[in-house]
Amino acid sequence: MVTEHAAPYLAIQKLSSSYGGFVALQDVNLTMQRGEFLTLLGPSGSGKSTLLMVISGFASASAGRIEVDGRDLLACEPHRRDIGVVFQNYALFPHMSVLENVMFPLNVRRHSPAESRRRALEILERVELVGFAARSISSLSGGQRQRVALARAVVAEPCIVLMDEPLSALDKSLREQMQIEIRGLHDRLGCTTIYVTHDQSEAMAMSDRVAVMNLGRIEQVDTPTAIYLRPRSTFVARFMGNANLIPIDALARLGMPATALETARSDMRLTAVLRAEDIRLGIGKDLASDLRFQATVEQATYLGSSWMCQARLSGDISVRVAIPNEDYDRSGAVRVGAILPFCIPHDRVSFVTDSASS
Ligand code: ADP
Ligand code: MG
Repeated sequence: MVTEHAAPYLAIQKLSSSYGGFVALQDVNLTMQRGEFLTLLGPSGSGKSTLLMVISGFASASAGRIEVDGRDLLACEPHRRDIGVVFQNYALFPHMSVLENVMFPLNVRRHSPAESRRRALEILERVELVGFAARSISSLSGGQRQRVALARAVVAEPCIVLMDEPLSALDKSLREQMQIEIRGLHDRLGCTTIYVTHDQSEAMAMSDRVAVMNLGRIEQVDTPTAIYLRPRSTFVARFMGNANLIPIDALARLGMPATALETARSDMRLTAVLRAEDIRLGIGKDLASDLRFQATVEQATYLGSSWMCQARLSGDISVRVAIPNEDYDRSGAVRVGAILPFCIPHDRVSFVTDSASS
């Protein structure tokens, strides 16, 4: 559905935004193809909501430009921007029925009542709520309300749909089910969507691409696998979880060949990322291309499919190591205080630059 190399459908250029003297967005650049599902991922306060609000017109830009399909969006009145929103604080109308809520954007656009009704029922069918059309909002569960909000956001087929942490109030299993539903609805309707979350696994599960935000800037935009496997900065590596960050000098002392570190050094990528699941027990393995070291198990937590351990190496380095059950069963040796051999293939070590904030 996403066309590669076409002119971007959405182009955000050097966008900045401030609250009084506080800079909440700084020099943000982002392009999207029509029909793409992109997630803004970042910790609280990183500027995700501000970016959505500038796009929708609830907040203003202090510099920069946004184009949608060649149109200058910032020059457009907010109510003419043709954007569907599902915001945390942009609630459904409690005094209207489900159907009336979903018809609302169509009524605003002056569709005939019959046409509005037909399209609203059609979209309610897609979110499996057509049997609830006459119900009041207060009689619905949290998940059903979120589906009504989704239906209302997409019913007028807006050029862009913005969703700001729409699932954060739901419990884990409903949240996971709704992630699949939202992505499914997106795929059926083909709407260009910007989704916001602070939850890495939600971003990875749902998105074509993820833009990681930090301190009002975008640190990296990539596919979920590229963000996880090839983070470019310490911030991105750390934020995606299970990353051990080690200065490359320490890696050299552990025996990583100098040739493997040369390129990283010359690019100023002075920190190595070792994912916990890439560090394996070194028992019964003898590969020349492995970085090998002994470490003392300081902590071991059983997670079901694996053990998550904290292990201290020589020097003052401590790493998180995930040990799959199969390795553990074979060695029978994971206990606190044990000194174990570990290994990591050279090609699983990636190198990152230091982020300003970490
Ligand atoms: P996120 O959605 O990633 O949590 P926000 O975009 O809400 O982040 O906020 C970015 C930064 O701007 C934060 O430091 C926040 O405190 C600040 N901020 C947000 N809204 C306002 C406001 N209305 N007035 C002043 N500062 C604000
Ligand atoms: Mg927010």
